[in-house]
Amino acid sequence: MAKLPIGVIGVGHLGSLHAKMLHSIPSAELVGVFDAEKTRADRIANEYRTKSFLSIHELLKNVTAVSIATPTVTHFEIAKLAIECGVHIFIEKPITHTTQEAEQLVRFAKAKGVTMQVGHIERFNPALLAIETYHLRPMFIESHRLAQFNPRGTDVAVVLDLMIHDIDIILSLVHSPVEKIEANGVAVVSDHIDIANARLQFKNGCVANVTASRISQNKMRKLRLFQRNAYISIDFSEGQAEIFRLVDEGEEVKNLTMMLGQITAGTRNRNIVYERPEIKEVNALRYELELFVDAVQNKKQPVVTGEDGLQALKVAHDIMDKINQQRIKF
Ligand code: NAD
Repeated sequence: MAKLPIGVIGVGHLGSLHAKMLHSIPSAELVGVFDAEKTRADRIANEYRTKSFLSIHELLKNVTAVSIATPTVTHFEIAKLAIECGVHIFIEKPITHTTQEAEQLVRFAKAKGVTMQVGHIERFNPALLAIETYHLRPMFIESHRLAQFNPRGTDVAVVLDLMIHDIDIILSLVHSPVEKIEANGVAVVSDHIDIANARLQFKNGCVANVTASRISQNKMRKLRLFQRNAYISIDFSEGQAEIFRLVDEGEEVKNLTMMLGQITAGTRNRNIVYERPEIKEVNALRYELELFVDAVQNKKQPVVTGEDGLQALKVAHDIMDKINQQRIKF
């Protein structure tokens, strides 16, 4: 199959890595880059032996797909332009600044038959990929995404910057609408919420307790799932997953690391097993871009669709509304 002609718009911190990955993906041809700062675009184009375009329009005329890694407030206008030109889009997370913009983009892309994938990169974290084959039906979820302070990203609330990763993952695991949200948060250092906690209650009874902070002393990116007969812990930073399960006596266990004991109460004997599934070496950014290229070339639905990006953004905004209501009361 011919290589997919693709470009990158916005080659700052993350976009330069998009260019690096796309340059190295055999099924893609990095046709060029564009950035509002010409010198930056020239430097990245030079580094990856590609063209630095003078305008977004010129770039869009020469590609079949584009990756958008500009500041979030600019996503909508740039993505709209790309869709108008019939160019498939990979768009960094969060999909847009407002839910109205995201709704418009999702509708527009569908009407134009344009593939849209949103850069919720943690879906491709090797630790999460490692538990894909387990039957997941979480009823209680606890997530912590704690980072040290870094001025980058503080132009938006931590909910939009960090917590949205966990919101997207949780929505992809629970498969049930959010019924009720309680949330609180504080703008400790920046002018926006720096630390936030939300309790999401789903229609199927599942509850997720989600915490995100960008003012922590120590880093942590963990998700813990509790379900009937199993407890699963995922460490995104360390790239590790652990599973504690109850299995019937004699049942085959794929990744058995240790037998922890036996439960003889009830109608049948069950074993408590501890599993550490094998973690494949995956570069999440490269993998998500490879899958995007594949989705465009083979007309497949992307793993993280525009609709997924929209739903995560909606929940993030609902959380921020709740936090703002609390702040007004205070
Ligand atoms: P950045 O500021 O480092 O880079 C943005 C680049 O876009 C800059 O080079 C800037 O000159 C350029 N730019 C600004 N306006 C433009 C326009 N209208 N047209 C073309 N270029 C323009 O920002 P960043 O940290 O790379 O973040 C970019 C996007 O990636 C944001 O949406 C952010 O939320 C997202 N992001 C996602 C993750 C993730 O984990 N998936 C991590 C970091 C950032």
